[in-house]
Amino acid sequence: MSINLEGKKNMFQIIGRLRCPICSEPVQPDEKVFLDIINTVMHQKCYYKFPHRRLPIRDEGSFQKMLLKYPFFHREDDEED
Ligand SMILES: [Zn+2]
Repeated sequence: MSINLEGKKNMFQIIGRLRCPICSEPVQPDEKVFLDIINTVMHQKCYYKFPHRRLPIRDEGSFQKMLLKYPFFHREDDEED
């Protein structure tokens, strides 16, 4: 999978800015996260801590992996594919 330079720049801009909706802490690239069906990223530890916040999970892994896998994280706006 390739990623252009502009996408890479935006990807690094989001690191440290995207916050876990449960604990409000910035999500770090090496932290394990879940991506739910409405494309919310949250820490795996927080997901388990607050079961009432659970939605079905779409994917899991490090935040960095999600950034590389899903281009919508580093788009300027919510354009459709
Ligand atoms: Zn969290």
